[in-house]
Amino acid sequence: MLCRICYKEEIEIAIVPCGHAIACIECALSLDYCSMCRMSYSRLMRIHLCMNKENDESLKLQPCSSKLSSDDELKAKLCKVCLKEEMSAVFLPCRHVYTCVKCAEEMSECLFCREHVYSFIKIYL
Ligand SMILES: [Zn+2]
Ligand SMILES: [Zn+2]
Ligand SMILES: [Zn+2]
Ligand SMILES: [Zn+2]
Repeated sequence: MLCRICYKEEIEIAIVPCGHAIACIECALSLDYCSMCRMSYSRLMRIHLCMNKENDESLKLQPCSSKLSSDDELKAKLCKVCLKEEMSAVFLPCRHVYTCVKCAEEMSECLFCREHVYSFIKIYL
């Protein structure tokens, strides 16, 4: 998932409190307010989006296309657990993002890093 501002770097930041995850670190630091909802932010939260390996590889095969087709982007955004809803939860404390809110509620440990999950924050990709 590429930064909505520069379309070069991966999205690595979620804006708090609105929860929009739209920017790489560099672009996020240049924002005065969220470019999605125009809300001024109280802080920026580092997140780790967990994408499918296949998607990463297909991206590398097409270095010229800076934007994903909307179809690929939709698939990339799907919850990796139920494959139905969009990913929308950041696990705390590890900040991995790969599930929807419904699945996040059922998880007590992160599937990626095996860290105990004590809470999650809702975000919008
Ligand atoms: Zn950027
Ligand atoms: Zn926002
Ligand atoms: Zn889910
Ligand atoms: Zn994790």
